[in-house]
Amino acid sequence: MTMQTRIVTLRQGLEEAVKLIKSGEVVVFPTETVYGLGANAFDAKAVRKIFEAKGRPMDNPLIAHIADISWIDRLAVDISDEARAVINEFMPGPITVILKRSKKVPDEVTAGLDTVGIRFPNHSVAREFIKACGVPLAAPSANTSTKISPTSAQHVFEDMNGRVPLILQGGACEVGIESTIVDMTADVPTILRPGAITVNMLAKVLGKVKNFDGKILVAKAPGMKYKHYAPSCDMVVATNEKRAREEYFRQKQKGLNPVIIAKKYYLKDTGDEQFNVIDLGESDEDAMRNIYNAMHEAQEKYGYIICQDFGVDGLGASIMNRVNKASGGKRI
Ligand code: AMP
Ligand code: MG
Repeated sequence: MTMQTRIVTLRQGLEEAVKLIKSGEVVVFPTETVYGLGANAFDAKAVRKIFEAKGRPMDNPLIAHIADISWIDRLAVDISDEARAVINEFMPGPITVILKRSKKVPDEVTAGLDTVGIRFPNHSVAREFIKACGVPLAAPSANTSTKISPTSAQHVFEDMNGRVPLILQGGACEVGIESTIVDMTADVPTILRPGAITVNMLAKVLGKVKNFDGKILVAKAPGMKYKHYAPSCDMVVATNEKRAREEYFRQKQKGLNPVIIAKKYYLKDTGDEQFNVIDLGESDEDAMRNIYNAMHEAQEKYGYIICQDFGVDGLGASIMNRVNKASGGKRI
């Protein structure tokens, strides 16, 4: 017996679609990449229906779709700072992040792997639908196995009519190809499937990424690395005082209002030159106590931060750990 497949708008069909998910059935929903065939990711029996409807081999894992970044903690464990940086930068959007799975995720979703693929789509229908379900939806593309991925409700209907009860209408997919998949559990973050989020975009956040072709890309200026620690204006570390001065005048010439953050001894021979300076005090203890406050002050009053290098020893190294995060590792 084949079922009747219907295409409905979110307004017409949200309640019914949520009911289907809660009772362990599948529903097709639009995303900005391609249409997905979803089921409750925590319900192994429901997830098996995805494989049946698609005719997909069970050793091919699915992606868990979420409606809020906080849901990631329901699916994954041991999430690195680098993974968080990628998540904060690109989600919601056309990216799937591979993380270490939580034991709560059934084998049917991960194909028995110890990792799980997570995506937070940016399509308004997907977001509202998943949010209303209240659980992550495991979903592959909504096509039968080996067929072309669908980028409209009509594509899904032509391929899957009679195999799924309901298709949520969401128009033509804006991105149009499947999400970029990046494995954040690898030694070097690795792109497993290229997509709209490119290797260059990822390198800006991560500094180092292994591309789909196996080549490692190192960002020339990983300016966005660990952006969540960074001040709101650009910041660089000056290797020595001479470079700090040169950079100061370079940025001034560009029309920016730079400031140098340094301990007292720095720039002692400035002569008549007028620098904006935030004084961190005499010792490394002083600098450590004052460094965050100096960054706050600098981002409020100035437009570009040049910070001294505190070296690699002792407290200096601890201060540099924070300074490097704030500057995204940028040095001059
Ligand atoms: P689809 O969007 O139809 O291509 O299906 C989801 C795809 O996500 C799979 O084919 C895999 O390539 C990928 N995927 C999902 N989870 C994982 C994972 N844990 N490790 C590697 N790839 C994954
Ligand atoms: Mg597919």
